[in-house]
Amino acid sequence: MNHLQLQTHGNYAILTFDREGSSANIFDRPALVELSEKLDALAAHPELKGLVIRSAKPTIFVAGADLKVLSSVEGAELRDLIELGQATFEKLAHLPYATIAAINGACVGGGFELALACDWRVASDAPATKIGLPETSLGILPAWGGTTRLPRLIGLPAALPLILGGKIMNARAAKAKGLVDEVVAPENLDQVALTYLTKGKRRVKSHRLSNSALTAPLIEAKAKHDLMAKTRGLYPAQLAALEVASNAAHGLVSDGLHHEREAILRLAGRPETHQLMRLFFLQERAKKHRVVEAEPKTIGRCAVIGAGVMGSGIAYWLSTRGHEVVLREVNEEALARGMKVISKNYADARKHHVLTEHQVNRGMDRLFPTSQPVPLDRCDLVIEAAVEKLEIKKKIFADLATRTRPDTILATNTSALPIRELAESIPNPERLVGLHFFNPVHRMPLVEVVRSSHTSDTVLATAVAFVRSIGKLPVVVKDSPGFLVNRILMPYLVEAAQLFERGGDPQQIDDAMLDFGMPMGPLRLLDEVGLDVAGDVAKTLADAFPDRMKIPEVLGLLVSAGHTGRKSGSGFFNYDGHRTSTNPIALALRTGKEAAPADIASHLAMAMSREARMCLDEGIAGTADDIDLAMVLGTGYAPFRGGPMQYALDVASRPRGGTNPNNPKSHESSTRSPTLVT
Ligand code: NAD
Repeated sequence: MNHLQLQTHGNYAILTFDREGSSANIFDRPALVELSEKLDALAAHPELKGLVIRSAKPTIFVAGADLKVLSSVEGAELRDLIELGQATFEKLAHLPYATIAAINGACVGGGFELALACDWRVASDAPATKIGLPETSLGILPAWGGTTRLPRLIGLPAALPLILGGKIMNARAAKAKGLVDEVVAPENLDQVALTYLTKGKRRVKSHRLSNSALTAPLIEAKAKHDLMAKTRGLYPAQLAALEVASNAAHGLVSDGLHHEREAILRLAGRPETHQLMRLFFLQERAKKHRVVEAEPKTIGRCAVIGAGVMGSGIAYWLSTRGHEVVLREVNEEALARGMKVISKNYADARKHHVLTEHQVNRGMDRLFPTSQPVPLDRCDLVIEAAVEKLEIKKKIFADLATRTRPDTILATNTSALPIRELAESIPNPERLVGLHFFNPVHRMPLVEVVRSSHTSDTVLATAVAFVRSIGKLPVVVKDSPGFLVNRILMPYLVEAAQLFERGGDPQQIDDAMLDFGMPMGPLRLLDEVGLDVAGDVAKTLADAFPDRMKIPEVLGLLVSAGHTGRKSGSGFFNYDGHRTSTNPIALALRTGKEAAPADIASHLAMAMSREARMCLDEGIAGTADDIDLAMVLGTGYAPFRGGPMQYALDVASRPRGGTNPNNPKSHESSTRSPTLVT
């Protein structure tokens, strides 16, 4: 199989990645061997003036290492592959003439390490251009020179957040961080790349101050302190990458490469790495696997009903993705508030180079806010995000049925109301589906697509395709109280509140779950969601499953006393600016004197795993993998543990009295984000 074409253009060589029979360029052993041979041939021509590396694929430069290979080899075979990549990129770095990566499309992981081995980098501003080193989010580190070269290019302090965060950026954000030298229109990319070569080899800034043997350890110590505070040392890849990058900043490149190699070999066999890789593959599957046979319809113009927290978030997101959106809200003030939130989201996206000024203006122009009941017959999809009251939603849908075309898809963002019952309030119930977005919409990647017994295959297929088209990941779930994510999360939150009520220390309970790897403790999460809102969701579930869900009285008592959580300044905890302390009033409401059990974390985590098992048995989700992925993406469930189904397997496979938290082989198949119910 061919991966590369080498041509000359005057005194310049042009190496084009074009993996035969594939839409993507990736690095596996044959691709690296072919690149290495081409670089040998190029080195034999020192009379050349420069080399451009480009891709013939429309949306991919080089998408990195073949993760299927990387995750399946170990020991000597893995060492071999890492050494081959390092040696090949070293050949590129040592060519006697200038080299440039002309980046159009995804340039991530090994793809960006290749670009880092060039003297120059120029990127197209095409939406498909994405640049970064996501390796640490997969439990490994950039080991084809990326951890060593990036600190040299942009300085250790700027490189560390990118390597440890595994962040992938668009071309403009990459330029702002110094990862690329220039951003140009795709049609000018090759020409601009050639002109760069006339500059000759690059003289890399020394970053003498930040990268020195004196300062690098100080920067490393501070970064380690921050990392431990954020992740509690649960992600070995980040710790390893930090150490390697800090040493490489002031040492020899060859030493840096040696440390990269040793670190990846150590990390590859770890259970955390296995789970993070597994989640990556599950996400890839969620992006494309066919849910039903029906052909999806195309969605153009949309409407969103309600401009509150969720409605404004959804309208913003859809408008950024090119959809025209009618935003209908009954309350003028709420509409103004919603539009203000949307403007702020756009301003933030502009500030962080996610969108250009032009894109911001275009996006805002796509929004049509209205407080009037306008006709919606040009809309292909209407998403209802009004208040969580069954009767109000029924009226809204009955009205929508008269205001839309018969084939307009109607969706609800309800957190827990029965979709079937809502569907029965309209003449053609097969067109109603649940699209349950999570808060905040622009950050949370998951959308539960809820199928009622009425939802048609075409509507389901369209909903799934639509969710993917707006850059979110769908998980199809059955219409049942709490759907999937809230159903599994709520018993855990209720159980935590019960431990508290029986006399548990709130900080100890929350700390146990932070140590477990949750992004937030359960009592703090209840406060963030609002004890009133959480209480309503818990009640819906308790009504549905009365035999196993008992809502602790303390929730109602705190709400009646005005302690509804963060929004009121107090709940289980008091919130005073940035300071949080336990709330003495809440402590006084505890009825028992029982200390929390020694194994708080496994006690609470098993509450989720048990409910997850029931969801699988009841067919709420299709597979155990779907459940694990949904919980990680929807709640921030400790990704390195793989999800609640995986956790149960690991607990079951532990030797009696053993403490091994993960068994990497027991289950075959970015952004630790805040968990939010509703
Ligand atoms: P919200 O109270 O912030 O906003 C609801 C908005 O709907 C209000 O502005 C209200 O004026 C408006 N509204 C009421 N009746 C209307 C009508 N007939 N036509 C148009 N607008 C109307 O509520 P929210 O938090 O945005 O929640 C909206 C929905 O999303 C609820 O069903 C909720 O359960 C669900 N949800 C909420 C979250 C969350 O975290 N807030 C997460 C997922 C799902």
